[in-house]
Amino acid sequence: MALDSLDPHELWAQCLLNIERRVRAQSFANWFRPTQVAQFDSNVLVIQVPSIVSADWLEKHYLELIREVVLEETELSPDISFTIDGAPATAVIPGVVPPNPNQEVEQPAIEGSSSNKNYPQTTEQSQIKNSSPEENEPFTSLNSGYTFDSFIIGEGNRFAHAAALAVAKSPGKTQFNPLFIFGGVGLGKTHLLQAIGNYARVNNLARRVAYVPSEKFMSDFIESLKNRNTADFQRLYRNADILLIDDIQFLFLRGEHTQTEFFHTFNALHQNGKQIVMTCDSPPEKLEGLEERLLSRFQWGLVTPIEPPDLETRIAILHQKAEINGIPLPNDVAAFLGSYISSNVRELEGALIHLMAFCSVHNTELTVEAAKHIARERGPDPTTELSIEAIQKFVANHFDLTLENLISKTRKQEVATARQIAMFLAKRLTPHPLKMIGLHFGNRDHSTVVHAIQTVEKKCKKDPSFGKMIEEFTEAIKQKFVPSF
Ligand code: ADP
Ligand code: MG
Repeated sequence: MALDSLDPHELWAQCLLNIERRVRAQSFANWFRPTQVAQFDSNVLVIQVPSIVSADWLEKHYLELIREVVLEETELSPDISFTIDGAPATAVIPGVVPPNPNQEVEQPAIEGSSSNKNYPQTTEQSQIKNSSPEENEPFTSLNSGYTFDSFIIGEGNRFAHAAALAVAKSPGKTQFNPLFIFGGVGLGKTHLLQAIGNYARVNNLARRVAYVPSEKFMSDFIESLKNRNTADFQRLYRNADILLIDDIQFLFLRGEHTQTEFFHTFNALHQNGKQIVMTCDSPPEKLEGLEERLLSRFQWGLVTPIEPPDLETRIAILHQKAEINGIPLPNDVAAFLGSYISSNVRELEGALIHLMAFCSVHNTELTVEAAKHIARERGPDPTTELSIEAIQKFVANHFDLTLENLISKTRKQEVATARQIAMFLAKRLTPHPLKMIGLHFGNRDHSTVVHAIQTVEKKCKKDPSFGKMIEEFTEAIKQKFVPSF
């Protein structure tokens, strides 16, 4: 077929007709109908998809089929990639030259890349690349999907959202400087933080928006020390109009130097009326290792929590995420999923994606039955099950201690034993590394946690009734967090 004679949309429409004959109706409706073509020529085919989920799914499950159909319909083998709103959603997947029947040995398709080297892709390779027109920017690029429009407001996040929006509209000019947003995992902190950056960029309210996970700030700084170019580092960070620094808790885990550097960056920006926004897993006063002078600065502006969404908000979020994926979600299914996962929006999203994928593969409707199946497969909501704090509360409660007491530095025997038991259970029942466990127990270091675990193990061996108690605790905690469905 003469490719020039047809426009890309017609070509893609033709490919879709072919695909429709080959896949189940439901799969076609879920994954192919919402696609469009962004570019289609002999070199590249860029498929526009509604969401990251679709890109991921199409790439994992239908890439071969797409390749085959494109070859059949156009006699071409372009590189294939996916895009959302013009931003790359996956890495480019090199095309394959059709095998030449006269050729004995298979040739690598694209120069410099034997196609096997680049394809099939591993999940890691195909992970979503953030959108940024300025690929070379030294800062982590923003995810264009994290906007205020796509953020559902509920009781738990209303204030944080309002503050973030105010800051985005007038960076550096409100009383909320710095803005400090804290809360548990998966509650939308990164989403809000990036929404500020996206908003300010789109509306030209700031020239330089620097989004950095705090680990990157730290490693950039350490790198600059090594390379003896701290002046460059400082220029870079102190030049920002808006500094968005994510998960700041990690900044205080290591060395004072980084903290001092951050202190100076903070001062330089603040003095010049530049906006600083930070997210954190706990309120500033709970950050162990944080110097007083930084603590007081964090409190200059606004410190606001973000709390887990209530059921109504969770259901609204589910509907919105389903809509983004172009798949209508029945109310009873949303209600079931929303009740099953109560604490973490990331989990909520994960379960929904799991469900959509399941229904697509099995060519079934999205029903409560299917959702129950997914819930059983996924097990209890890991956020509730796996939280170190939940274990601490359980143990503290059992020994009639307060949480503060349990975590405190006191060496009183009963408290120390309870603390060791809680550390042991945290290791047994959560996937967190020792360092993280230590952090939750008043910033104790990892050798203290190792010591606690060994002590409990020894006691279990020596004293069967102690061992029995530990097993009972384990069971009780597991029971407590298994949802009933
Ligand atoms: P955190 O940084 O607090 O761990 P994220 O910002 O990464 O959490 O949020 C996890 C996921 O949940 C993201 O995909 C985000 O878009 C989504 N999310 C969280 N809160 C909301 C909300 N209120 N509305 C829509 N999506 C949300
Ligand atoms: Mg985050």
